[in-house]
Amino acid sequence: MSQKVIDLLNKGRSRELTAISQYMSQHYELEDTDFGKLAAKFKEIAITEMKHAEKLAERILFLDGEPTSKPDALPKKSQQITNMLTTNMALESTAIKLYNEAAMVCAAEKDQISKELFEDLLKEEEDHLNYFENTKDHVDKLGAAYLATLTG
Ligand code: FE
Ligand code: FE
Repeated sequence: MSQKVIDLLNKGRSRELTAISQYMSQHYELEDTDFGKLAAKFKEIAITEMKHAEKLAERILFLDGEPTSKPDALPKKSQQITNMLTTNMALESTAIKLYNEAAMVCAAEKDQISKELFEDLLKEEEDHLNYFENTKDHVDKLGAAYLATLTG
């Protein structure tokens, strides 16, 4: 089995672990400031990332590798909502780039299952990026009126 593929699966897992701690830390901050609706959505996305991290670990174990437990960055704290959204867009964009490239490496290494795993994750990361982009767009255009709809 290809060490290249195992390394990419672990690189993805580190990215997922960063996203989990980032989105959960934002979730707690948003709960604390009564942006309950936005907080709930961030938690929902964090749980999807937990499932991604787990799927990557399962594949790594199957290939006789060792799943990493290291995130690749520390979560940013106390950001304004628009900055949180920009942070999250960057996390999703780098995951999308990584998973697109990883899928191609898996194809070259003739590992169809890992390739399909990256492609499955890719679909969900595109949805996340789209959600963060649309939300930021609304906040930018509508400001306080839109932010008021995210409370609760
Ligand atoms: Fe993910
Ligand atoms: Fe994501």
